[in-house]
Amino acid sequence: MENETIGIELNNMKTIIILGGGIGGIISANELSNRISRKHKIILIEKNKEHSFAPSYLWLMNGDRKTNQINVPLKSLLKKNIEVVYALVSEIVPNEQKVKADQKEYHYDFLVIALGADLATEKIQGWDDNIHTFYTFEGAVKLNETLKKFSGGRVAIVVSSMPYKCPGAPHEGAMLLEDLFTAKGLREKVEISLFTPEPQPLPVAGPELGNAVKSVLNNKGIHFYPSMQLNFVDTKLKQLNFNGNDPFEYDLLIVIPPHQAPAVISTSDLANSNGWIDVDPEFLETKYENVFAIGDITSILLPGRWIPDKPMMLPKAGVFAHLQAVVVAKNIAKKIRGVETDERFCADGYCMLEAGKDLAGFAYGDFFAEPHPEVHLKRIGKKWHIAKVLFEKWWLSPIGTKKILYRYFLQASGKLIGIPVNL
Ligand SMILES: Cc1cc2nc3c(=O)[nH]c(=O)nc-3n(C[C@H](O)[C@H](O)[C@H](O)COP(=O)(O)OP(=O)(O)OC[C@H]3O[C@@H](n4cnc5c(N)ncnc54)[C@H](O)[C@@H]3O)c2cc1C
Repeated sequence: MENETIGIELNNMKTIIILGGGIGGIISANELSNRISRKHKIILIEKNKEHSFAPSYLWLMNGDRKTNQINVPLKSLLKKNIEVVYALVSEIVPNEQKVKADQKEYHYDFLVIALGADLATEKIQGWDDNIHTFYTFEGAVKLNETLKKFSGGRVAIVVSSMPYKCPGAPHEGAMLLEDLFTAKGLREKVEISLFTPEPQPLPVAGPELGNAVKSVLNNKGIHFYPSMQLNFVDTKLKQLNFNGNDPFEYDLLIVIPPHQAPAVISTSDLANSNGWIDVDPEFLETKYENVFAIGDITSILLPGRWIPDKPMMLPKAGVFAHLQAVVVAKNIAKKIRGVETDERFCADGYCMLEAGKDLAGFAYGDFFAEPHPEVHLKRIGKKWHIAKVLFEKWWLSPIGTKKILYRYFLQASGKLIGIPVNL
């Protein structure tokens, strides 16, 4: 058993507030609930009553999932003793240990900020409703409807700026679309192009993995255009304008919109110059004691990778939000018990990269490795796709017996196929 159980809870009742009920928020709330006694209060504040699993938006887009298969009530994923407040967090006041949400004030002893990243379509010059995205639930639904009517032409997928969450997702989206058009007998009539300001696919993972992904895209006839900074879109002329290049004509445009920190953070003194929250990379504590930040809202510098002249940050990904949530929950529980907080986030990440035809690749590695992150790619195969589906089922299953069964099932399957499943 974890050594935080060694300490005795000598302290009075504590209140832990978690902001955001996405991947990081759900895990930190449940992990805390597992580790502290019921006399303490866990409050989770989230603006949405429903939770949808973002990695499945790609399957919503290509018709492999229906909306009700990836969207569940948030409460069904949370332990019973967690108090859920549905409200918009509007202010954090660390000096007074309080947050404001929908005109109410909530006082905390420990705060976990897991508010994720907002998408800022308004930052794209020329953005209108004709432009698609698979980065939101609604966007994926709308794109699926459009794809049902699409009969051929030039499809452009554009990463508009960095950072963006899940650096694998645009490539997965391109490959799933290729698969869809092939299945529909349209492949000969469709040209798929992927544009990104990055110098290669997944630059954080280094040249070896980038070349491997490029070669998979190439084998599928997907054109990959690196170092393309989107300038503006003309939806009337259906033209993309990139800095220093001739306009590119498209028939269907899919954009990964710019990401930004939610306003409650970017306008607070927790924000760094880019709006995100700087944290201690191992303990995830902010500059305020007992105020932690996890997941997409954070900014964590990585060793040894530059793009092209800026240092790279830890990718915004669910796997890291998840692992960080566990670390923070364990350390808060230890603080409450008065034992040493020795849990450290070690940035061992992994990702199943969908490649179409129910196949996937598997990228994994140590993102804190020196002199630079060490990320490897396993050969594309069926098992990685199955692992991704299993993870989705586990994630969306209600808390309780079913969830526990999935946990064992997933861990057993993970062992079988060599995936470091850490739930
Ligand atoms: C298409 C797609 C595919 C992806 N695939 C993968 C993958 O395969 N593997 C992987 O690891 N990651 C993947 N990701 C990334 C992953 O979903 C995110 O990195 C992860 O959700 C981050 O977790 P988080 O808790 O930091 O933020 P989120 O999960 O985004 O949660 C933030 C929560 O805060 C709430 N919130 C925000 N502002 C407020 C406010 N002011 N008041 C109240 N509530 C607020 C939001 O409603 C949200 O519920 C993918 C993402 C996308 C879009």
